[in-house]
Amino acid sequence: MKEAKNRKYWQIGLAPLVPLVVVGGYFWPYLGYIAIAMLAFMLTLSLFRGRYYCGWFCGMGGFFERVLALFSRKRKMLPVFKAKWFRWIVFVLMMSLLASRLILANGDPVKIGAAFVMMWTVSTGMAIAIGLFWKPRSWCSICPMALFQGLIAPRTYLLQVGESCRECGLCEKVCPIETNPGRLKNVGVVKSTDCLRCGNCVVNCPVKALSFADSRQAPRKAVKPPPEKEISPMFS
Ligand code: SF4
Ligand code: SF4
Repeated sequence: MKEAKNRKYWQIGLAPLVPLVVVGGYFWPYLGYIAIAMLAFMLTLSLFRGRYYCGWFCGMGGFFERVLALFSRKRKMLPVFKAKWFRWIVFVLMMSLLASRLILANGDPVKIGAAFVMMWTVSTGMAIAIGLFWKPRSWCSICPMALFQGLIAPRTYLLQVGESCRECGLCEKVCPIETNPGRLKNVGVVKSTDCLRCGNCVVNCPVKALSFADSRQAPRKAVKPPPEKEISPMFS
């Protein structure tokens, strides 16, 4: 996970895209094409790395984790944020909204850009509203793109939970979306939609029980637990 040291810098560098597209796009809708380019990059990357884009390169994710976090009350997320039915409702509503705007655009490049500016504006508004009270990246559990990436790449670069896990719960504490890999020890793997591939839990697990791999690794080998260490400030 040596490359994980750069995650914070990617996020800080990409976070300004949010005010640029949301505010600037209001005056110059062509900025919406930044959102289209990011979407294309996300979908391509998800075929090889699942939700890696969300953990590393999403401008909105970076904005929530590095800026919104400064003002958030960081309460525990509501269970409904992770409920499948709720995610599907948000997905259908958001995609219907986008589809209707694109149909009304009728091929006009300005209106197409404006449609994506509108999508980023609506998403960012909702994300800020919930992120101020609950975890700053609560939206990343609900985001329609999370569900979509899970659908197109359900077995790609999944977080594996080894048998050495002692269910200490530390991974949940460092996870931006409160996923608890330790609770899935018996399953052995975390669902694609529930993991941003940020690597926080991997570097902080005291027994190095976590790793990434396509699909599920088997058989598992027993690993001698190394000595405990403090939570790494690397990704804080
Ligand atoms: S931090 Fe490691 S040992 Fe602790 S619950 Fe998570 S995976 Fe298991
Ligand atoms: S489960 Fe681990 S890798 Fe996945 S989002 Fe949470 S902290 Fe990041």
